[in-house]
Amino acid sequence: MSIAGILDRAARIAPNAVAIAHGPRALHTYAALKARSEAIAGFLKNRLNLAAGERVALLMKNAPEYVEVMFGIWKAGLVAVPMNAKLHPREIAYMLEHSGTTAAFVTVDLAGALNEAGRSVPGLKSIIDVASSEYSDALKCEAVEGRWAALPEDLCWLFYTSGTTGRPKGAMITHRNILAMSASYFIDIDTIAPGDSILHAAPMSHGSGLYIFPHVLGLATQIIPESGGFDPLEILELAKVHQRLSLFAAPTMVHRLVNHPAIGDLDLSGLKTIIYGGAPMLVEDVKRALDVLGPRLAQLYGQGEAPMCITGLAKRFYADRWNPRWEALIGSAGFPQAVVDCAVMDADDRPLQAGEMGEICARGESVFAGYWQNEEASAAALRNGWLHTGDVGVMDKDGFLTLLDRSKDLIISGGSNIYPREVEEVLLKHEAVSEVSVVGRPHAEWGEEVVAFVVARPGSNPTAAELDALCQNHVARFKRPKAYRFLAELPKSSYGKTLKRELRDMLAEETSRDTAVN
Ligand code: AMP
Repeated sequence: MSIAGILDRAARIAPNAVAIAHGPRALHTYAALKARSEAIAGFLKNRLNLAAGERVALLMKNAPEYVEVMFGIWKAGLVAVPMNAKLHPREIAYMLEHSGTTAAFVTVDLAGALNEAGRSVPGLKSIIDVASSEYSDALKCEAVEGRWAALPEDLCWLFYTSGTTGRPKGAMITHRNILAMSASYFIDIDTIAPGDSILHAAPMSHGSGLYIFPHVLGLATQIIPESGGFDPLEILELAKVHQRLSLFAAPTMVHRLVNHPAIGDLDLSGLKTIIYGGAPMLVEDVKRALDVLGPRLAQLYGQGEAPMCITGLAKRFYADRWNPRWEALIGSAGFPQAVVDCAVMDADDRPLQAGEMGEICARGESVFAGYWQNEEASAAALRNGWLHTGDVGVMDKDGFLTLLDRSKDLIISGGSNIYPREVEEVLLKHEAVSEVSVVGRPHAEWGEEVVAFVVARPGSNPTAAELDALCQNHVARFKRPKAYRFLAELPKSSYGKTLKRELRDMLAEETSRDTAVN
């Protein structure tokens, strides 16, 4: 089955259900969404003459057209290349060229960036602005049904990784990967029923876009907020209109929602589930979120190479405060999902025992098919039949997985491993601390030493001495930060992940300044 088929199914079973809403307004039914995507497929196939398997980019902010363009691409047997709206034109140019993209859909705010990038990419022949008359004309093209235009093993989505190290790589996601991931959502994470809705407050080119599919299968409504992004008050207003509203949020978004000054006075009854993921959420943050939002949290752990589907934790586990291991569980990334095997391996790819620390590996239906035109990286990531995630973790004897840190964030001081997350969990217990991130700084004698970056709560002023006293009570001496830096905010990526690399760069700059002065 191709992913295009799930839209046909929804249009057959629930033709009049609302498929797309823009803010509070219902926009298209499932029957209309199907017709619009089939016209786009006709445009791509018969007007632009694209052949099966060609790549089509979406350089779009969250917009109501996102979903119909994606299904149009698949109904024409093509491959979608969604791109983050906040990328630099040079990064866009690289991805367009590397993927061999021939056509791109763009929202007006990004047309400039794409034109700038596109000029240097000779293969890019068509750029279609979704607000233009060309797009309205495309919607009048003769429909191409295309429900069988692709096979389950065909490439569906080229998912460019964030590229924190080196050039971004295009993870090849197949139709089968997306279908398996969607089925697993129902099995492991949450129910979805007609009348439910999913709000896209995070980028649809990434995390939030993946939630389209289980919600089409569940005959729910996709809501694109008028702001196009994350606005806590808008979310709660929309939850009043649409009811049973779910959303995907990076931990930093959950943090902003929970700490919104008006949150205590607002009606949360229309909010069904907030699924968080993409970065770890520290235990104290999870507890605060549960206190403020009620038992509405669920979690997913995945990566571009196994989208949304390695482990997860459903809402009932967060609600189960009587469980003697509740704190350990809500601090974990949950249980392996139904469609994958998950194991913690040593450096020689031997599975470790429960409680032993190693690299998290996964295999199964949601694991990608390799990197686009990069055999070396594909072979390394998929060696011995397992996806090597680069994440370090521990599988508990009770079967849940706790993520420690990316291996490159590990601090080694005097030959001992220090997992930043362990120190971060302690510092966040201080009531004046809003956010914290711990990194290593090169040290002549010890190799590395621990430095903590701290963001204070508004109106508070935690001191290094207080924080050190807290650490003295909770962690081994060698893990205690040797220096504290207080910042107004932590540097974050456009997906809301803390950029530890930038924190390390800040420390390196300090060191080179000091060396220059001495
Ligand atoms: P990306 O490929 O950009 O989606 O990033 C995936 C990475 O985000 C993973 O390899 C993890 O390091 C991190 N991540 C994703 N989900 C979680 C989670 N639930 N808890 C902790 N880290 C996560």
